[in-house]
Amino acid sequence: MSFKNIIGQEVPIRALKNLIAEDQVRGAYLFLGPDGVGKRTTSMEFAKAVNCDGKKGDACDLCSSCNKIDSMNHPDVFIISSEGSSNSIKIKQIRRIIYQASLKPYEGRKIVFIISNGEEMTIEAQNALLKLLEEPPENHILIVTASNIEGLLSTVISRCKVVRFSCLGQDQIQAFLQRRGIDEKKAILFSHMAMGSPGRALGYERMDIITTRDRIVNDFFFRKTALLREGTLNEEIKRDLKTSLYMLLCWYRDLMVFKFTQDKTVLLNVDRSEEISPYSSRFSIDRLERDIATIMKTMVYMKSNMNPKIALFNMAIELKGI
Ligand SMILES: [Zn+2]
Repeated sequence: MSFKNIIGQEVPIRALKNLIAEDQVRGAYLFLGPDGVGKRTTSMEFAKAVNCDGKKGDACDLCSSCNKIDSMNHPDVFIISSEGSSNSIKIKQIRRIIYQASLKPYEGRKIVFIISNGEEMTIEAQNALLKLLEEPPENHILIVTASNIEGLLSTVISRCKVVRFSCLGQDQIQAFLQRRGIDEKKAILFSHMAMGSPGRALGYERMDIITTRDRIVNDFFFRKTALLREGTLNEEIKRDLKTSLYMLLCWYRDLMVFKFTQDKTVLLNVDRSEEISPYSSRFSIDRLERDIATIMKTMVYMKSNMNPKIALFNMAIELKGI
């Protein structure tokens, strides 16, 4: 697709193109920015651009090198991400990179390692990576993508050139979705709910996000008492808990934002904005702050693999204010 098709990231793309044009691509890069804004796509396009046989400074999308990278079949481009159910990138995966880095490129000009969601590296893995960062081999590039800088050791960050990616505007995401054939009504809702992330917005089409949102808002906002009394959780909510919790957070966020602004145009749940106004007035700011903190705390618990059933019941109790 080449750099020109990445939307809304003009600043980092320009910086990367300049590096290629000036033949300054070497060492390690940290692509830092929110989830779903194009960090991984850009790293693939960067890998294509530095190895492209047909074009200088960008990917031609036609040569053998570009095609192999697109189909993940290039022998010199490696993507490292978390394996198994642990959600972590382990030291053995980093050791594999260190071995590969001792070799010369097979057919490309540069070997490219892309560590996707680098904050998922264990401490041991990050410490092992330091060796490579301190003595970067020639003709090798390492790209670490991350949305949460706090998960990375300062020694790792300080050895990478940081390239920052930012959120996109709602209108940019809406236009992007409509170009992909999503109808206007859905594109408006998804682009609002995506909070700046086109990747997240695109995922909504696949996930039937409206049903997911309605289900969790129904259980944890409208019928908390019944939920606690019946003691049964909707299995569908547990199936995609991360998205469900995010949807609930968006709902409470709207209640809070409306309280301050009294403006329906700044809401995310644009299709249910008529309901937000009356419910918003029923809660105090303190109460909404506490409820938002409860949902965010549950999201953190889920990341640390807490039993979802226990976490959700605790959340229902706290949201109920018992
Ligand atoms: Zn090419």
